[in-house]
Amino acid sequence: MARDPLLTFTDRGIFCPAGDFHIDPWRPVERALITHGHSDHARPGHGAYLATEGSAPVIRYRLGDIRLKTIRYGETRRIGSVTVSFHPAGHVPGSAQIRVERDGEVWVVSGDYKVAEDGLSEPFEPVACHSFISECTFGLPVFRWKPQAELAAQLNRWWAANAAEGRTSIVGAYTLGKAQRLLVSADLSIGPILTHGAVEATTAVLRAQGLALPPTTHVAPGIDGKSHPGALVIAPPSALGTPWATRFGPAAEAFASGWMALRGVRRRRGLAQGFVMSDHADWDGLNAAIRATGAERIFVTHGYTAIFRRWLEDQGFEAGIVATEYEGESLDAAEAEAGPLIEPDAGAEAVEGAAPEEGAAEADPATDEAAPAEGKPRRRRPAAGNART
Ligand SMILES: [Zn+2]
Ligand SMILES: [Zn+2]
Repeated sequence: MARDPLLTFTDRGIFCPAGDFHIDPWRPVERALITHGHSDHARPGHGAYLATEGSAPVIRYRLGDIRLKTIRYGETRRIGSVTVSFHPAGHVPGSAQIRVERDGEVWVVSGDYKVAEDGLSEPFEPVACHSFISECTFGLPVFRWKPQAELAAQLNRWWAANAAEGRTSIVGAYTLGKAQRLLVSADLSIGPILTHGAVEATTAVLRAQGLALPPTTHVAPGIDGKSHPGALVIAPPSALGTPWATRFGPAAEAFASGWMALRGVRRRRGLAQGFVMSDHADWDGLNAAIRATGAERIFVTHGYTAIFRRWLEDQGFEAGIVATEYEGESLDAAEAEAGPLIEPDAGAEAVEGAAPEEGAAEADPATDEAAPAEGKPRRRRPAAGNART
């Protein structure tokens, strides 16, 4: 007798019929297992939540009074007739892949992940499985990240040069994960670090749970380029180029994102400097992670899904595309509007002009100042996010 597949794909999200729970659902459900605290994965309105101990504080901070139980990495829990466990995804502190097992059959939902260590997040751990649901935000060979030490050196050279010329250095970065990764990369001998309120608030949550993060000063009234000359300012991407940023006087602005690998994106944003820094796996990372699972069946979601699926099929995998409402690593809507659509057969040349997914999905909803990037209209690209039947 044929049974339900272990995981199914519904309009509410990834569903496990045998356990009666969803994973990172985007519409309200009874029971949700949450991979991490970014707003496209941890959404409000579910009856009950289960997440790792390391991601729980930020999920509570963002979603308020919810019924949330926690689980340790590697701990197993029986739900219905399946066993679940959470394993480090290396994406942001506390982030997890979720393993689901029934009678020896194993599926893993990657959530967002990256393979390279960032000096902050628990390192990615390959989990053996039969079926792997993988994000592929940066699933093209043009996306290759430099090691963390090299990125840190690049950041500090830029900051020191700006400070020497009397300019403030402002970097746009997601408030959860990348902002703290910049903090641990910064050379404190160069100058002070200032934070936008949204970055400061999330950083405070992570500090309170024990992460060793350097001291920061919240940009309150009276804090500006005069009070803190030569500062490094970390702000949500949407705060760049706004009146909020003018208080720092002469300043250099940069954006930390995997999309900075694309010249066209840097050019359109008028950025002299971009840090190619992502919390998602690059091309090599995706391929290494997928092979390490030993899975024969791969489902890909958010990103260059059509291209990446075909690549996987060429490599001998059984591969499918899952339409989800996760949004990968986003720039803002203006950027998306300016970008031509990428065609399924586009090579690296065409990719130079490709735009990232729209909507600042991983911006912090709990901003107290600028950062007006929530709730942008969504627009689908033909090459990404479309389900194949
Ligand atoms: Zn994420
Ligand atoms: Zn995501």
